[in-house]
Order: sequence, then C-alpha cells, then structure tokens
Amino acid sequence: MTDVILVLNAGSSSIKFSLFATAGEDLKLVARGQAEGLYTAPRFVAKDDAGAVVGERTWGDGVALGHEGALDHLVEFLRSRSEGYKLVGAGHRVVHGGREYSQPARVSEQLLTALEKYIPLAPLHQPHNLAPIRVLMTRAPELPQVACFDTAFHRAQPPVAQAFALPKSITDRGVVRYGFHGLSYEYIASVLPKVDPVAAAGRTVVLHLGNGSSMCGMSAGRSMASTMGFTAVDGLPMGTRCGNLDPGVILYLMDELKMDVRAIEKLIYQQSGLLGVSGISSDMRVLLESREASAKAAIDLYVYRIGRELGSLAAALGGLDAVVFTAGIGENSAELRARICADAAWLGLEFDAEANRGKSQRISRAGSRVSALVVPTNEELMIARHTRAVLTARAPARAP
Ligand code: ADP
Repeated sequence: MTDVILVLNAGSSSIKFSLFATAGEDLKLVARGQAEGLYTAPRFVAKDDAGAVVGERTWGDGVALGHEGALDHLVEFLRSRSEGYKLVGAGHRVVHGGREYSQPARVSEQLLTALEKYIPLAPLHQPHNLAPIRVLMTRAPELPQVACFDTAFHRAQPPVAQAFALPKSITDRGVVRYGFHGLSYEYIASVLPKVDPVAAAGRTVVLHLGNGSSMCGMSAGRSMASTMGFTAVDGLPMGTRCGNLDPGVILYLMDELKMDVRAIEKLIYQQSGLLGVSGISSDMRVLLESREASAKAAIDLYVYRIGRELGSLAAALGGLDAVVFTAGIGENSAELRARICADAAWLGLEFDAEANRGKSQRISRAGSRVSALVVPTNEELMIARHTRAVLTARAPARAP
C-alpha cells in the first residue's frame, strides 16, 4: 500500500489536483488533472504520470457543478482508483496567509476562521482556495489537511521592503506589501543549489513569467523583495492584469469616468495587461505569432517593464549574480528570454543565443558575470513536500 498526498489548487472556476506518492526521498507524481468550467460547462480530466487519460467526464453546457460538486466527483474518482493507494493528507494552495503565517499550517477550525479574515485582502482568490478545505473537512473529517501560502516565502523580507509610505493607522490594518507566487519561488530556491551553487548562495532574481507574472529578488535563497505587493495585480503587466499603476489613475477613473469599484476591479484584473494593450489576446503565444502593431506594443511594454524591475531588484539586492527564468513564458519562450537578457547586458549578463535556442538550463556564456538560467517551477511538488513535512512534523527539505 503506497501512501499518497493530494494537492489542490482551487481557482474561481477550476480545481487543479495532483497526487504524489510519499514513498521515495522526494515525492513522485502519480496522477494529476483538473475540473474546469465549474459554473459554465464543467469538465473533469485526470491523467497518470505519463500523461495518459485515466478519468474523464463532462456535465454539459449551463450546468453549475460548483466547487462542492467538483470535489465530490474528485473524491469519488480517487475512491474508485484507490487500490494500492492510501490517501494520507491533502495540501492546499492558499493565496493569503497575511502577516501571521510564514510557514504552512495544519488545518483546523481555528485556522480556517483566521484565514477567512484575509478574504478582503484577496477577494478573487482566497474564498476559492478555502472552499475545498471546508468541503473536505465535512466529507473526509479524518483526513489531515495542510494550508500552504503564496505569501509565506516573502514574510522574511526586510521590513522596509514590505512597507508602503502610508500612515500607520492604515498599515496597521495589514495594508503592506505581501508578494505572491511564493511557492514557486520557494521551489526554485530549493533546487537552485544543484543547478548553480553560486546563484543559490548569491543575489538572484527569479522571473516567474506566466499568465500571472512577477519577479523576486533573493539573497541566499531568501526573499528580499518582490514586484507584487498588497495584491497580485501589482508589478509587471500580466495576461490581463495591469501591474504597476499610478494610484492617481484610479482616482481619475472614479472622478472623471465615474467608474465604481467593481468596474475598476474588472478593468485592472481582467481587461488590462497583454490583453488590454494588444486588444487581441492575453496569451503570449498568440501575440508572438501576430503581425499586428498592437501585439508588438504589448510585448514591448512587457519586456520594458521586466527590464526596469530587474534594475530595481538588483538595486534592492545590492548587485546581481544570476537571473532564473520560470513558468509558462519563462520556461518556453526563447524569444522573450533573448530580449530580456539583451536588456540586462548592462548588469553584466553575457547572453548565449545558441544555448537559449536549445534546451540548455544555462543560457549565459561561460565567464558571464551574471548567470542566466532556465528552471521549470513545480508549485504542486512544493505543496506536497510541505504537506508531508507538516504531517510528519519534519522541516521541509530546502534541497532535494
Ligand atoms: P499560469 O499563470 O496560468 O500558471 P503559465 O505559467 O502556464 O500560466 O503560463 C501561461 C503563459 O505562458 C501564456 O501566456 C502562454 O502563452 C505562455 N507560453 C506557454 N508556452 C509558450 C511558448 N512556447 N512561447 C511563448 N509563450 C508561451
């Protein structure tokens, strides 16, 4: 009988899951999949570690399966395939752990109540992250659960990196820079010693470039500063999020355009970024293939903002030893990496175009003062490691 850990990452309309066997030194992926379109046209698919479909179901257009229904189906699916496996715990991605949680935490009624207090800080994510925890608590009360926070890794930042220049009466309410994508950065920090010990021990900027994009300046594997702040809309332009914005723009939108909170929320989270600037798509692949000037303008702005943030993070770190590309765009787009590295030449990065076109992990020239690396992220594995560590009350391994 193999012990397995279930990892859940629940969004507003989808639940992604992975199953990891806990037998080995590191954990081994057994299956993964998702339920998506939970409120429109629900579809469930599960694949084994080799990518073969092992479970599939659709519910038809207009069916509102919801988070609960999707989890019920997942639990049923897991039970139907449980021969040889024993579910020993569930780990959840939870976007916000506030100022309190700098480590993953075992789920209890008290923890859930505490985490619900952070819903106003992340209204678009936190309720969806917490929903499956509640459902599992009632459906499988004996199953231990662990909450892993996207903010936790950044709690180690120096106070000055977490501060806004606002009155204390406001910052005391928790209006500070939190930073997100922490599980991704923590995973990168955990594998970096093997990939490049100098980058692991030194001043490294990790570029998590996906639909959601952010950058994190790390010193010896510890977060020192990040581009995302109070919310995950700050920093870089993203697929549909605007990133860094003069707060005066919000006042203008309210005063002059008479936009209310919900309209502004929609604008900055769903209608801006690559989609807003291009007017074509939020998907980088589509923009790279397009010949429209607006697609080029969107990519140019994305690259430009990354270059500026890299300078800013290098300043926060007091220098730069390495950059690491990760997530959908960072791992897959040689073109974007080439442009970002070219802009970073002034920092001492000597780019190796040939290595970048191949599948090399190192894309800087031998002898380059600043190394450039490509390292695939694995947030699910990080959650599974944390879950195992909390359940066995061992500290999670920083290096595999
Ligand atoms: P999420 O934040 O949703 O997890 P991902 O990390 O999967 O997002 O990244 C999605 C982004 O990666 C999309 O913009 C997609 O176009 C981009 N992407 C994936 N593969 C490529 C590629 N080969 N070239 C350029 N962009 C890519």
